[in-house]
Amino acid sequence: MQHSSIHWFRKGLRLHDNPALLAAATDCCCLHPLFILNPSSSQAGTNAQRFLLDALRDLDGSLQKIGSRLFVVRGCPEEVFPSLFHAWGTTRLTFEVDTEPSARQRDATVAKLAAQHGVEVIQEVSHTLYDTERVLALNEGKAPLTYKRLQSLLATLGPPEKPAPALTQEHLQGCHTPCQASHDTDYGVPNLEELGQDPTNVGPHLYPGGETAALTRLDALMERTAWVCSFQKPRTAPTSLSPSTTVLSPYLKFGCLSVRTFWWRLDQVYQGQEHSQPPTSLHGQLLWREFFYTAGASIPNFDRMVGNPVCLQVDWDNNPQHLHAWREGQTGYPFIDAIMTQLRTEGWIHHLARHAVACFLTRGDLWVSWEEGLKVFEELLLDADWSLNAGNWLWLSGSAFFHQYFRVYSPVAFGKKTDRDGAYIRKYVPILKDFPAEYIYEPWKAPRAVQERAGCLVGTHYPQPIVEHGVASKRNLGRMKVAHARKGNKSPMRHQAHFTSSCHPSCLSLPQAPSESHWLVPQWPNHKGKSPRPRGSEPHKDIQAVVSYGSCTTCPVLTHFAQPPCINPFPSPSLRLATWLLPPPQKSTPTPSTCPKKVCHPSI
Ligand code: FAD
Repeated sequence: MQHSSIHWFRKGLRLHDNPALLAAATDCCCLHPLFILNPSSSQAGTNAQRFLLDALRDLDGSLQKIGSRLFVVRGCPEEVFPSLFHAWGTTRLTFEVDTEPSARQRDATVAKLAAQHGVEVIQEVSHTLYDTERVLALNEGKAPLTYKRLQSLLATLGPPEKPAPALTQEHLQGCHTPCQASHDTDYGVPNLEELGQDPTNVGPHLYPGGETAALTRLDALMERTAWVCSFQKPRTAPTSLSPSTTVLSPYLKFGCLSVRTFWWRLDQVYQGQEHSQPPTSLHGQLLWREFFYTAGASIPNFDRMVGNPVCLQVDWDNNPQHLHAWREGQTGYPFIDAIMTQLRTEGWIHHLARHAVACFLTRGDLWVSWEEGLKVFEELLLDADWSLNAGNWLWLSGSAFFHQYFRVYSPVAFGKKTDRDGAYIRKYVPILKDFPAEYIYEPWKAPRAVQERAGCLVGTHYPQPIVEHGVASKRNLGRMKVAHARKGNKSPMRHQAHFTSSCHPSCLSLPQAPSESHWLVPQWPNHKGKSPRPRGSEPHKDIQAVVSYGSCTTCPVLTHFAQPPCINPFPSPSLRLATWLLPPPQKSTPTPSTCPKKVCHPSI
């Protein structure tokens, strides 16, 4: 039978590796490539909308080159389809599987409508590396909650499928796309004004949307063999003035780039070369994407706190002023304000910059709900992606996946690690550009004469810090403890290895809050840096070992111990070394009476 097909583009805005599009073109005499613009369903800001329109124009151009066109229709899919099926005599509808809950609901309704109109429906997986349903089935229907668990499940499935061939003119032999002279007026890609957006609100056009731009960017990156092979995410810098990671995220989000194509191109580059490994390598980044897609596909209310079974229930503050100051880059912390300015103007920020501002908004400083931050990111990021956004906000706010909530980013020290002179701040907060490096991260500490020379008085031209970090983070730590205690006193760490059964030795040996160097290489009475690594600890599990030591979070002494002034989320070589130097866990369990501060948690 020769079909009259509609291929419904939603994500997957590409011709390469698009198996559902190929299915539409198979045994097909009439093809309608369709995109439905449903402005009411999108929270995207002007920059992201521009990216989408770029991508649609590019797609239309590519389809034209192979003798077809894109039909852009406005409305709600459930209402649009019945009339299209009728008008176009459709017998087959194809689309890519979308795992987001609202999309699944929409697709189920559309599939039902299609059945009522006698239209066959074909759905294909191509937005993720694996079919998330298969991964979930391997894990008894539950989302793997650790990266390691995901890796072991994927190992049983083998490598991801190879990409499908790109749609070409040959696939469309004998198939036509009926277009009128009025196509552009009836079905053309609108501009920003037509979408009700103010085009003067857009920032610099750094990342043009579309498959062509995606593949060009990918090609250029894959030429850099040494960079690809040595890529380690923790070694990339949030303060870099040109991106230190790929910035392929917007292209992956809209499906202008197939994640399988990206995976297999990396694989080609890796061939015969020594290369970094997951979780820090580029393959490792794509597995993080898979991790959050799998979680988002199966955890109820994944983007919310209430009703989300993996999410810590926290009494966040309702503080619209703080939220506004954060969003607008007016917190008085230059590093935070620079990041939020980059986000608002350019639509993309580095992963660790996202860490810094997400921690600052939530458990670090402002104690505002991660759901509020998620909404701001949803509006401002070019790559705003439901599963990735929610998963990472859950992580950064210490609500799920990541439980070392005592590891708080300093809004001052963190940026300094990669940018002591503050070039990043000078670029994005130009009012501060003439401050000496000594004060660029803390301009409120500059003497008045220095502020005058810099042409910026703190409190007049640039805000005072909205909270005192030291005070706020300490207070918030207490509130996190309360949230954990309420959870049934199930400190997540107590489920971990043997270390967690006893209080950390620092409780007994450190009379006061130690310095960072203590933290990194503690001097143990009998170990003098030469002890064998702790029993049961293996090099590749070093991070886990350190984390386990920091786990007795209910003990204030340890809290200090676990709170150096600035914490790199990825332990440095010296920290890994420190793990090796740690003594084996104590034989006798310390009790409140042996703890000099008598503050150990009652449960130990
Ligand atoms: P690269 O380092 O070059 O990585 C390549 C690809 O791997 C990325 O494009 C992305 O698809 C994937 N990836 C990398 N890191 C992660 C991660 N932590 N989680 C999931 N996938 C990852 N990413 C989004 O794409 N959309 C979001 O809405 C989003 N929201 C985030 C919110 C917060 C609070 C945080 C901390 C992170 C968020 N991320 C999000 C994850 C990550 O920051 C971005 O994917 C990454 O910075 C994009 O830049 P890149 O393409 O240069 O990444």
